Amino acid sequence: MASESGDFGAPAFIAGPVQYCATSLTSIVPIACGKLGTITMAHIAVIGAGFVGLSTAWHLMREGHVVTLYDPAGPAGGASFGNAGTFATYACIPVNNPSVFRDIPHFLLDARSPFRLRLGYLPQLAPWLVRFLLHSTALRSEQTSRALAQLLGRAQAGYDAMLQTPGLAQFVRPRECLYLYSSAKAFAQSQADLALRQTLGVKLDVLERDAVQALEPNLSPIFERGVLFRGSWHLSDPAGFLRALQASLQQQGLRVVQSVVSTLRPRAHEVEVECAGGAQAHDHVALCAGAHSRPLAAQCGDFLPLDTERGYHLLYPGSSSRISRPVGWAERGFYMTPMARGIRVAGSVELAGLKPEKHAGLLQLLEHSSQRALPGLPAATEPWLGFRPTLPDGLPVIGRSRACERVVYAFGHQHIGLTLGGVTGSLVADLVAGRTPAINLVPFAPGRFR
Ligand SMILES: Cc1cc2nc3c(=O)[nH]c(=O)nc-3n(C[C@H](O)[C@H](O)[C@H](O)COP(=O)(O)OP(=O)(O)OC[C@H]3O[C@@H](n4cnc5c(N)ncnc54)[C@H](O)[C@@H]3O)c2cc1C
Repeated sequence: MASESGDFGAPAFIAGPVQYCATSLTSIVPIACGKLGTITMAHIAVIGAGFVGLSTAWHLMREGHVVTLYDPAGPAGGASFGNAGTFATYACIPVNNPSVFRDIPHFLLDARSPFRLRLGYLPQLAPWLVRFLLHSTALRSEQTSRALAQLLGRAQAGYDAMLQTPGLAQFVRPRECLYLYSSAKAFAQSQADLALRQTLGVKLDVLERDAVQALEPNLSPIFERGVLFRGSWHLSDPAGFLRALQASLQQQGLRVVQSVVSTLRPRAHEVEVECAGGAQAHDHVALCAGAHSRPLAAQCGDFLPLDTERGYHLLYPGSSSRISRPVGWAERGFYMTPMARGIRVAGSVELAGLKPEKHAGLLQLLEHSSQRALPGLPAATEPWLGFRPTLPDGLPVIGRSRACERVVYAFGHQHIGLTLGGVTGSLVADLVAGRTPAINLVPFAPGRFR
């Protein structure tokens, strides 16, 4: 077994019914590894078992690498648990776009605003917020959209082969997402965004009021216009999908360490990963810890302005048959998605850091707005708060650490980490292999904030 660190011995976790590892161990496929020299199969630590981490583990194992996954919470313990479940290849318009300047009074003064900023967090947030606003100009926002569109254009390809994994297809619901506007003014204000989406390859159909009602008859008749995004789909249970993916990977040799990684020690020929159970050397590390990635990146010499856009969800148990697809309400900033256990209402943006306290007002707004959109829902249950990982330019970081080429970053996927998990995993596999990535990674480089 050719390993650069070579201190794994013959780990028990690569025995058994190995689909990917066995291939590499018996037929060792050489992978050109740029400055790292030529390697074959490598021992790789993936930190974080969300959509990004588990997709990365899948792509790396597919290439024959031996992967150890670290996460204290198990699969989908972070933002990946409670999202709206939409595979949103149309989502190339970042939150930080020119409408932010127009909407600031509404954000700050209107009780129906789905956006909140906790004033006590402002001193800590200020540097991020200033950058975020600077990236909201028309020019910068369009640059972000173009870069996101590159990733989104490959999002489906990033999942296609993974979805062949037994047990995963059952979670996929091929129903297009419907985005709604309750006022002609809001729809008129969205024209520039819709035009840019179309320029960037998004296929959509605009629906009049009657067509919206015909498509989703249980909706309240308050929606002036709808936009149906072709090619989008959703998951009936995002966490169930990731649990099934991890279980399948474990059958194929994935080793799982259910522990917090406290320290990364990059060295010339290996990276040491330390957690409560001790330290372990790996040939490479993929840091996919979502909104919690910043301190570990700092240990590798990269001080990245990662913060979080907190988001919420509620569940209306047993109500899924009332809508046939994910339905979003533009002005109120949320989606209602029919899932296995009921309709999940997910959305809002709160800038308040990583503290676990929930904002009761935002949860009430979600409940009130969803009841208004879809009358007759049962009582809402299971309020949930999640931390979207967001860099101030709205783009993820996908690239090698400055201090050590053996550490690859993959975090900061803001509102679309479910959608971009697969393609991100494939790009991490490209970087580990020393291949030229399928897309230009310059806009996603960790060094862009220097
Ligand atoms: C309300 C809401 C709705 C959303 N809707 C959608 C949607 O419809 N479509 C879409 O594409 N995206 C959506 N998103 C965004 C999406 O959920 C996130 O972008 C995505 O989950 C990020 O995935 P991740 O793997 O990077 O991070 P996470 O899912 O947060 O996973 C990170 C993991 O790292 C682990 N971790 C953290 N620190 C450490 C450590 N030190 N050591 C080991 N492990 C660690 C955590 O336990 C966690 O499991 C939504 C988000 C929210 C909040």
